[in-house]
Amino acid sequence: MRQFAVVGSGPAGFYTAEALEKAYGGQARIDILDRFPVPYGLIRFGVAPDHQSLKAVAKRYDKVAESAGVDFIGNVTIGRDISVSELLDFYDAVILATGAPHDRKLGIPGEDLPGVVGSAEFVGWYNGHPDFADLDPPLGGTHAAVIGAGNVALDCARILSKTRHEFEGSDIVGHALEALDQSAIRTVTILGRRGPHQVAMTPKELGELGHLEAAVPVIEPADFPPQEADEALEPGLRKSVTLLRGFADLEATKAKRIVFDFFAKPVAIEGDGKAERIVVERTMLDESGAARGTGETYAVPASLVVSAIGYASSPIADVPFEGGKFVNDRGRIAERLYAVGWARRGPTGTIGTNRPDGYEVADQVAASMPPGSPSDRAGAEGLKRLLDQRGVMPTDYDDWRKIEQTETGQARPGSPREKFVRVEDWLRTLGR
Ligand code: NAP
Repeated sequence: MRQFAVVGSGPAGFYTAEALEKAYGGQARIDILDRFPVPYGLIRFGVAPDHQSLKAVAKRYDKVAESAGVDFIGNVTIGRDISVSELLDFYDAVILATGAPHDRKLGIPGEDLPGVVGSAEFVGWYNGHPDFADLDPPLGGTHAAVIGAGNVALDCARILSKTRHEFEGSDIVGHALEALDQSAIRTVTILGRRGPHQVAMTPKELGELGHLEAAVPVIEPADFPPQEADEALEPGLRKSVTLLRGFADLEATKAKRIVFDFFAKPVAIEGDGKAERIVVERTMLDESGAARGTGETYAVPASLVVSAIGYASSPIADVPFEGGKFVNDRGRIAERLYAVGWARRGPTGTIGTNRPDGYEVADQVAASMPPGSPSDRAGAEGLKRLLDQRGVMPTDYDDWRKIEQTETGQARPGSPREKFVRVEDWLRTLGR
């Protein structure tokens, strides 16, 4: 019986476990490890709380976790509680599915001012990520800005603009709902360093901005190239651009505005001890399509600045790491050590993109140690013995079910689940 450890219980981890299970058909034990006592990574902490249909993919992961060959082992941090080389002693292969939980830095003056937060922090705050429960983003000013022209920027702008009523049925955490309800923000400016033809925003997500209760998208028609130029775009992007063009026809009659400011590259964040404005340089596209500054600058007022310019993975001791991800060749990092998902490819693609990724790596594992081949690795038994010696108490899937039931039981009316935002609360639920 082969023994595999998948590190990380987000989409990449679960698709890989699913793929390994299929490839080995009952002749492997697969342990999905996570630093938190609860599973699902990006699904729980990253996907927007008002996108419940996307979060429903966790039901598929439940099936994987409940299958005979798969176990969840939570509350274990690789690199702190146990090293990768120790894991490799216990398992035939270790697959890192640790995602990309950190914000890339802007690299401009003022980015460390209070009031400037990364999207991982901001999204984590409204999604109940324990690391960001105390973020307390300043919502007392009238102007906020979101840097970046991707889907995460859209998520942040939309969450900042929704009414309390619009969060019904979402699983936004109580502290964020209360704070957003009291928010004074009336204008959210989305700063794209290139133009409407270069957005990384997808049509479904963009379309939502046109139907908000109290906010309306505002866009400068002069930012668009001639309409004929849209023909050359790939269909998804053309749809996004058509939606953006449609926003130019909307009247800004609602209380809040989401302003698209294109060809706008942030060069500094300024303020008296806290963020008050972003200095932006007008750009134009060079021959390669990159944003080139024109030298013209102006200020965009913002007492909250959310930087949504992409993510990076966490390095782990002794694992080669470069450019925000693990160094790998089609997922293979070293003998018996692999990476999948954002830890392998970098932070792009949808949840579903991780599926072929996980299957490809599972195929490689199965090719190098065919189903039926013997193993003398101790697997979970050995791992748990060592964790016990180190005073680490892992959680299992039954523990998660208990936590889930408790969370669901204390949900606000109209909300699917009121999530705990502290590790201690999860553990208390388990009587620890
Ligand atoms: P992204 O799609 O890579 O977008 C990042 C944006 O930041 C780009 O517009 C990029 O502009 C800009 N940017 C990068 N560096 C910058 C800088 N120094 N200054 C100013 N702007 C900068 O990343 P993301 O929005 O974090 O999304 C990550 C992935 O998750 C994407 O594949 C996304 O589609 C997916 N996602 C999907 C959903 C959904 O389906 N509902 C929701 C959220 C996220 P350039 O293009 O000029 O580099």
